[in-house]
Amino acid sequence: MKYKRILLKLSGEALMGDRNYGIDPKRLADYAEEIKNIIGKGIEVAIVIGGGNIFRGLAGASNGMDRVQGDYMGMLATIINGLALQSALEEAELQTRLLTSIEMKQIAEPFIKRRAVRHLEKGRVVIFGGGTGNPYFTTDTAAVLRAIEINADVIIKGTRVDGIYTSDPEKDASAIKFENITFKEVMNKDLKVMDMTAFTLSEENDLPIIVFDMNKKGNLMKVISGEKVGTLVNS
Ligand code: UDP
Repeated sequence: MKYKRILLKLSGEALMGDRNYGIDPKRLADYAEEIKNIIGKGIEVAIVIGGGNIFRGLAGASNGMDRVQGDYMGMLATIINGLALQSALEEAELQTRLLTSIEMKQIAEPFIKRRAVRHLEKGRVVIFGGGTGNPYFTTDTAAVLRAIEINADVIIKGTRVDGIYTSDPEKDASAIKFENITFKEVMNKDLKVMDMTAFTLSEENDLPIIVFDMNKKGNLMKVISGEKVGTLVNS
């Protein structure tokens, strides 16, 4: 296995499956199965989950809502998704812990770095909910932040497309996929991998990013084994 400790970033939208809103239990069960397979290989798995399938602060603000209020709603949405993911993982007989950056001790542990690392060492899947706990940030930034804090080897971003392309492959048939790309090239070519705050944090801390299609069965295992799946961004 190429990696030992990973941080998997899943967007809220990924949990919708074919729906327009909310959570598709079938999709969650599929993800749980993929995660179980890599846990079986001794990989330590931490997950940051987004909230875009339920609420985004920016969308609220564009409808006249206070941005900070909306962002807190978005952060709570990530916790709802975290609880759903936790159930699916437990259904697959995995040990899990949900840690949040916003205290709500009846349903999740507060985020404490050493505790998170201990859970990982014991083979538990750690889900980080609540983003960074601050408005004006995204769960991509939370993912990079947590990955650096727990010394993850890599951040693995599951998306609908199977990597980074010269242009949007869903709109441009001539788009070409990169197998490898450097942080600098991504910047120079103005490609969209993560928002700028998240991306810069990753670059500054030399944390490689892999973008891949999480919806293809067996893909996560391939990524962990070091097979050429998706796009690897590094220095
Ligand atoms: N959010 C926030 N601070 C954070 C992480 C998230 O305010 O550290 C809010 C923000 O409103 C965001 C929403 O939570 O729009 C959902 O997160 P995100 O958009 O990153 O989810 P994804 O696109 O991954 O589903």
